[in-house]
Amino acid sequence: MDIGPVTIVAKGSALVYQVDFELKGSHQQLWFEVDNLAQQELSSSGDTALMALLLPAMLANENIHVKGSVSERLLFSLNGAYQTILTQTIPYLQRVNITAEHCNTQSSSATGVITGFSAGVDSFCTITDYFSDSPPKALKVTHLLYNNVGSHGPGEERLFRERYQQLKETADTWQLPFITVNSNMNDFYGRSLDFQLTHTLRNAAIPMLFQQFIGHFLYSSAYSYQDLFVGESYDMAYSDAFSMPLLATESLQCHSVGSEHSRVEKTLRISSNPDSYKVLDVCVKGDRAGNCSHCDKCLRTLLTLDLAGKLELYKDNFDLEVYQQHKQAFINEVLISKDPLLKEIVVWAKQQGYRFAAHHYLSATMLFLKRSPAKVFLLFKNQLKKLLSSLGLYHPKQYH
Ligand SMILES: [Zn+2]
Repeated sequence: MDIGPVTIVAKGSALVYQVDFELKGSHQQLWFEVDNLAQQELSSSGDTALMALLLPAMLANENIHVKGSVSERLLFSLNGAYQTILTQTIPYLQRVNITAEHCNTQSSSATGVITGFSAGVDSFCTITDYFSDSPPKALKVTHLLYNNVGSHGPGEERLFRERYQQLKETADTWQLPFITVNSNMNDFYGRSLDFQLTHTLRNAAIPMLFQQFIGHFLYSSAYSYQDLFVGESYDMAYSDAFSMPLLATESLQCHSVGSEHSRVEKTLRISSNPDSYKVLDVCVKGDRAGNCSHCDKCLRTLLTLDLAGKLELYKDNFDLEVYQQHKQAFINEVLISKDPLLKEIVVWAKQQGYRFAAHHYLSATMLFLKRSPAKVFLLFKNQLKKLLSSLGLYHPKQYH
């Protein structure tokens, strides 16, 4: 894969970073349309393009050559440790060799701090920790970022614009510049590099555009420290704490933040921030902005708030009647789930002295048995053997 050189052109109020590249012999163009920049300039380094195209190149088993300049430090990490994490997380990727025409070794000495703001639980928690709650000046958020790099589902660009308008009001109350980046990056990923599997690298490519004025990128973590690992997974976020520092350049450091909190703790933490009552947006239903109140993410958040006695605070932002209709069935799911974020809720509820009703445990057991016919058969077979054996009607084989 040949990448570059990068060009930057104006398009109305926006600036567009664009770069040509070849993938599997076909000529393509990757672009990033950046708006609400408040007079700042974009970096013309190839770092963003390289990060955005690394996964498609590894999937196609094509070495990369960047016609232009990339960070020497980033190039070193991407050729080494970072690809090790990627191939351990996504075993069907191939290691590739990356070269560049020029290596940049200069720091811009930028001091800005940027974080993505989607109004979800993780990003609200980052705002609380690194903006509202008096963090050290060097790490206090100075800019917010909103990307369209594949997270908005089928209605992509329309939803991206709709959601931004909703979030902008909140950003304005904090008096923070709120940069938007729209991109066609998702077009080059395909099903085997779906969003959940690859979101960290997609999002981390964007702040590299702002290296002239941003020195720190804070990426909100999805999981707590005790659940992190490097290994095959459906979600790259499990290795964020290990991989993000490797994505640094001479000018910009990348941090995975928030793993010191469990999801339950994050949810409770943001419930003391009144800004979240009207704009918290956790929904995974991809067809409209706002919360559906019955998808897994809505239910997970609402159940946590409910158990903590904070549900009513969010009555304007969720349909609590819809939640009540789905609550009982969801509790049954939570009780048998292996998802660390759902297991956390059960552990936390117990610690608080909350007891789920006996009928929930009964329904959860039935649900488990229904979903695991092979296990039920084995359990039944073993119990029957024990019973027959105790009656002297069955003699297990003895091996000597
Ligand atoms: Zn939802």
